[in-house]
Amino acid sequence: MTSPQRAPGGFPVVGIIGGGQLARMCAGPASELAIGLSVLAEAPDAAAAQVVPSSPVGDHRDVEAVLAFARDCDVVTFDHEHVPDEVLSALVAAGVPLHPTPDALVYAQDKLRMRRRLTEIGVACPAWAQARTADQVEAFAARVGWPLVAKTPRGGYDGKGVRVVGTVDELQDWLDQVGAPGPLADGILLEERVEFVRELAVLIARSPSNQAAAWPVVETVQTDGICTEVLAPAPDLDPGLAAVATEAGLRIAESLQVTGVFAVEMFEVRDAESGAPSYVVNELAMRPHNSGHWSMDGAVTGQFEQHLRAVLDLPLGAPTPREPHTVMANVLGGDYPELYPAYRHLMARDPGLKLHLYGKTVRVGRKIGHVNVSGTDLADLRERARHAADYLAGVITE
Ligand code: ADP
Repeated sequence: MTSPQRAPGGFPVVGIIGGGQLARMCAGPASELAIGLSVLAEAPDAAAAQVVPSSPVGDHRDVEAVLAFARDCDVVTFDHEHVPDEVLSALVAAGVPLHPTPDALVYAQDKLRMRRRLTEIGVACPAWAQARTADQVEAFAARVGWPLVAKTPRGGYDGKGVRVVGTVDELQDWLDQVGAPGPLADGILLEERVEFVRELAVLIARSPSNQAAAWPVVETVQTDGICTEVLAPAPDLDPGLAAVATEAGLRIAESLQVTGVFAVEMFEVRDAESGAPSYVVNELAMRPHNSGHWSMDGAVTGQFEQHLRAVLDLPLGAPTPREPHTVMANVLGGDYPELYPAYRHLMARDPGLKLHLYGKTVRVGRKIGHVNVSGTDLADLRERARHAADYLAGVITE
């Protein structure tokens, strides 16, 4: 490997594979810390390529393109979890420091391996099974009852690749694909349908030196399988549950040797007999995550700064909230392709609002930005965040 091209003053260069909004939101903290940033972008106008001067265009599935990109970086991290195994192996063989490493990343790429590993380390999961045949589906249903939640082990996001099924026939098309190359090669992940109270997320940063920091547990509100709102910290969360959920996140970080920022999505549940609150883990994301966008404005150290610190093995920043509550609302694309005119109205109406747009072309339902608002009155904050997100989406006009 040639020596990396250093940012002025001897600062390192962090390379990010993928030019989406997560890479873009690293640019602010990188510029504040004078850390070099380079992004392997899908297209010249990708969200991150618009703001990061070093954004070569290349395909994350192309070994040569990724190796050439990595040559100019001190460490390499990811905007998404879709880099194929053979590309990751080639990077490791070339001696590129990767965070997270492929050995950790696999648990976010493959839900069957994630379930197996979490079960081994004693982290609470929904009842689950791997099914390759209709008989195995029937056997699991006999144990936990219909309906079941069926998932493709690989390749799902935002609820795609998740089905609630009431009969084995509803899975026939997936069963037909089992064993063939693709997301169902190893079978289908089956889970009991969890009767959850709400969805929670634990966001953790861990550095290669094994320093870890946890932000407060948050509540994530989903609409049609997409996260629309995050409440930080999760309102009225039982302190005992907050502690065990955070401990589970830290245990996963350490056991799986995760480096960088990562999120554990959980369901809050009630014990059938005692009614005591507890959690089961839904899934892992090994990168900064939508459930942590609140921290950009609501915590002493936001997740994107923390991710840079973690992947560079710098000491981590305080994850402490700045205000009692922060509400994040995602802006989903609506009918209006022009967003800038909305700024005048929203900024005048609510000077406390923090607006974040990703430079993405507006498509209906696409995540194109988010708003954060912090303070003491949760109901008021939710109303203000909802209003701003709806106004930007064109759902409301005043
Ligand atoms: P994705 O990887 O596409 O985000 P998830 O595994 O997070 O998929 O599932 C998407 C949504 O489906 C979750 O946010 C949750 O609302 C619901 N869900 C997933 N698994 C279960 C389950 N075992 N029981 C009940 N609901 C579930």
